[in-house]
Amino acid sequence: MVFKKKRDTTQINIDFMKEEIKAYNNVLELIGNTPILKLAKITENMEGNFYAKVEAFNPGHSTKDRIALYIIEEAERKGILKPGDTIIETTSGNTGFSLAMVSIIKGYDCILAVSSKSSKDKIDMLRAMGAKVYVCPAHVTADDERSYYNVAKRLHEETKGSVYINQYFNELNIEAHYRSTGPEIWEQTNGKITHLIACSGTGGTISGTAKYLKEMNPNIKVLGVDAFGSVLKKYHETKEFDSNEIFPYRIEGLGKNLIPTATDFDLIDKFIKVTDEDSAHTAREIAKTEGLFVGYTSGAAFQATKQYAEEGEFIADSNVVIIFPDHGSRYMSKIYSDDWMSEQGFYDSVNLEQTQKIEI
Ligand code: PMP
Repeated sequence: MVFKKKRDTTQINIDFMKEEIKAYNNVLELIGNTPILKLAKITENMEGNFYAKVEAFNPGHSTKDRIALYIIEEAERKGILKPGDTIIETTSGNTGFSLAMVSIIKGYDCILAVSSKSSKDKIDMLRAMGAKVYVCPAHVTADDERSYYNVAKRLHEETKGSVYINQYFNELNIEAHYRSTGPEIWEQTNGKITHLIACSGTGGTISGTAKYLKEMNPNIKVLGVDAFGSVLKKYHETKEFDSNEIFPYRIEGLGKNLIPTATDFDLIDKFIKVTDEDSAHTAREIAKTEGLFVGYTSGAAFQATKQYAEEGEFIADSNVVIIFPDHGSRYMSKIYSDDWMSEQGFYDSVNLEQTQKIEI
């Protein structure tokens, strides 16, 4: 359809309209400043006040937008990244999506080495965002040449003009959260936060946020969430890497089979381990009670909160901020699939009753 050009209006009117349009210039301007949300219903029987920092409100739907933008802009400032260069990273999905998004706006190529444990949805999404994706076996040790760490390193060596983000060993990962997530939470809680609870993968989120918050108030308790099958909690307690702790688990983005330098263990007061099963059910419970469609690790973070509450660690005046790293839509073929839940043996009789199919 061809629209007729409107009768000429005066310049004054056009300028007036321009002023009225309060648009962002690109998606990168939407990163950060995510809301905190009071979790009222699901915490009804718990002592204390609980708030979720909902990172799904970032344009890439996860907390990783913050580090992607920060690390790339630091590399630009230092002259390491030039137009047309390539961004390379290992990622469980979210960091890759954020890097691909930032690369689109800034004009870089993006190559990602991804664990085969990542959901198909996530891998498809990365490709939809223009990234070149290499899927690497999940159940090999970090030093195996097929591991996504070594594949990314090799690609970096082979690709001229490439930058390896290396989020597990990049201190800018911590700095990104020190400069954004930490100050936001401090301001949003008016300095009244008493506990921070966050999942630990690279450790960037928990370490950077904790660093800022503990500088503001050293009494704030910082609790890290770890998976069974990961070495982080044991390392925190013993300062020793124990490979006997390592076995496959299902939660993506949480826990590790190596010790990342992007984790500042001294800033974390305690690690709490959660199971795949409890975390999956808790994510689904958050969706059903709070109407907040959260990712698997958000379920893990709240599961850890419940376990800590059961130990009687919160009082009526506790103001607990829990970081919810991403959005539920990334897990449709996993925790939000009844079939997947059944295949994992995660259903008890009550849940089975709820999922009875009605023939129409
Ligand atoms: N949740 C999800 C879904 C993630 O992808 C990650 C990152 N691996 C985390 C939590 C943990 O965040 P961090 O890497 O900053 O420790």
